[in-house]
Amino acid sequence: QSGKLMALQRSRELLPIWPGKDAIVDAVKHSDSVVIIGEPGSGKTTQVPQYLLDAGLISPEGLIAVTQPRKVAATTIAARVAQERNAKLGSEVGYAIRFDDQSSPETRIKFYTDGMLLREMLNDSQLKRCDVVIVDEAHERTLRTDVLLANLKRIQKARSAEPNDKKEGKRKERWERRPLKIIVMSASLQAERFSRYLNNAPVLYVKGRQHPVRLFYSKTSQEDYLDSALRTFFQIHYEKEPGDVLIFLPGQEDIENLASTIKLYAAQRPMDSLDVAVRPLYAALPVAKQHEAFYKAPQNTRKCVLATNIAETSVTIPNIRFVIDCGLCNEKRYLAPEKGPGIERLSPTEISQSSAIQRAGRAGRDGPGKCFRLYTEQTYKQLLPAQIPEIKRCDLNFAILQQKSFGYDIEEMDLMDKPELNAVKASKTILKILGAVNQQFEITSVGKLMAKLPLEPHLARALLQSKENGCTKEVISIVSILSASSKVFYDLPNNEDREAAFQARSKFHHPSGDHLTLLNVFRAYDEISEGVKSSSSSNGQNGIGRGERKEWCRRQFLNERALAEATRIRDQLERACQQASIDPKQSCGDAHEPVLKSLFRGLVHHTALKQLDGSYKAGELPIKIHPSSVLCDKKPTGLMYEELVLTSFHYARCVSAFPPAWQMEWSDSLRKSL
Ligand code: ADP
Ligand code: MG
Repeated sequence: QSGKLMALQRSRELLPIWPGKDAIVDAVKHSDSVVIIGEPGSGKTTQVPQYLLDAGLISPEGLIAVTQPRKVAATTIAARVAQERNAKLGSEVGYAIRFDDQSSPETRIKFYTDGMLLREMLNDSQLKRCDVVIVDEAHERTLRTDVLLANLKRIQKARSAEPNDKKEGKRKERWERRPLKIIVMSASLQAERFSRYLNNAPVLYVKGRQHPVRLFYSKTSQEDYLDSALRTFFQIHYEKEPGDVLIFLPGQEDIENLASTIKLYAAQRPMDSLDVAVRPLYAALPVAKQHEAFYKAPQNTRKCVLATNIAETSVTIPNIRFVIDCGLCNEKRYLAPEKGPGIERLSPTEISQSSAIQRAGRAGRDGPGKCFRLYTEQTYKQLLPAQIPEIKRCDLNFAILQQKSFGYDIEEMDLMDKPELNAVKASKTILKILGAVNQQFEITSVGKLMAKLPLEPHLARALLQSKENGCTKEVISIVSILSASSKVFYDLPNNEDREAAFQARSKFHHPSGDHLTLLNVFRAYDEISEGVKSSSSSNGQNGIGRGERKEWCRRQFLNERALAEATRIRDQLERACQQASIDPKQSCGDAHEPVLKSLFRGLVHHTALKQLDGSYKAGELPIKIHPSSVLCDKKPTGLMYEELVLTSFHYARCVSAFPPAWQMEWSDSLRKSL
């Protein structure tokens, strides 16, 4: 144990950031804001919070909050830092992500997702507990990072201002005496922008250890990046040069597909001396599985990590010598029309040059590396220099509502980049449609509750509506499943028996569509769980429950992980409902209309109507029902959907039918109110 700790300490001292320790502590002591720029892997995220804590910069009850754009990074890095400090996760070092808080009053270093720290302001508007906030991966410019930074600037100013009435001689509270320190950390060269934004904050550069990386481009543009990734991987593998491989892909679906193909090929054509260990890494993967991507592969085995852009800068995987870059990432895009509500969709988008450079750099951490770009040099030259910040291309519904609940309009915030006017207008329209704000754009009581619930605005609205319709028990289950990070009906891998899976799953199908189908699944899972609970308590055994549930899910071709997560989410939402004086157990029994009506209230801006030729239009946008939907062949007149995915077409995912009369009723009442 102590040997291991000493080794960890030694490896800390070998990190490129170590010699800069005193300079960092000094800068933070003397300035309210500091910008730290350093190559990925240099030690910023894991070390800077520890340096500040060990230098005594934190008051005894104070907190260093570190934000990450992604959950995976927040949880894995918290675990790593706890390990380095020989602390149990959740004691001195903890984390908080939506629906999961591992911390205690002893916690001094706490990793948050950027959205979670924003949420913290609902209860603690001045972030009194925080002495330092470190905004990490700031170059990613997520919507929540940008909004967080604007709030931090405001809080910093408020906390360092003198109290209004000096004569009163009022003693300042502890947090008022300790101004908020803001540290921005980033892997890229936007240093001056961040520095200017933070009142000319000093900039510290950490030099990374970077070996040369040879770049290889495709000669022609590749139609099928999965196929060329596969071929490139086996080319590397058969040439037997040492080192692990990291493949960047846009999302989970591609990762799972390629993972199974690589495994299949490797099994068909085994090599006498070298095995392949395939390790996926994406946000929805359970934490234990994510960790496997970081472990060393066994001897004579080449590790092949298939990752989303999580592995671009936020986490470091040791021993990578080859990078295969497909040139795409999944990106949210918001289509805001001149008038009316907009539509957000997730689709594979070309990465920026700056991302491509970061991706290539991952091959040169431990020695000279190679990066295979599955696109031409010409394509590379045409990529944008840097990604467009999310605030300029994302749905602003939640951000605007949340700021409103803090008492601010988005227009008056000191943001690094202003959002597009159309997008702001569109979101305001949606918030009006959802009843979160009134015609004067004042937040309503419904809006306040929506901002408090840890849910997307449309799901929050549906949940609030369920109170009126007497079906909270049903709706809370549905929104919990929809809030889980992976899908209950997972995409079937090629080798699984599709016919058997379809048979097993079809017994849950509800004629109205996917929402009530999900409810049927959750109900069946609850029955199993409760049955298991009573049998295990009667014979006094613990721990068999999960195993039985897993086995049941396996036989139904369901994703147990998603259901277990949904159960935890539901517990939390039930508590949130009770605080909002909503009875979470109020049920409508087997009636389904109240449930659909509640969902419709939240999804009223996510609807499409069948046209004369049988096609669908969401507003002006032609869409199709996703093949995974139970309504795929049914073609109801009106449909509401959770999200649009763009592949060869705009596909609506998670779809339910509604009678067109609801739409008319709704438009009438809207016309009256607008
Ligand atoms: P940065 O934030 O500058 O990208 P990090 O602080 O995340 O760097 O990581 C510094 C180093 O710590 C990495 O290069 C890696 O060697 C090590 N490290 C970080 N996380 C882990 C982990 N989960 N497992 C093993 N090593 C890790
Ligand atoms: Mg980092």
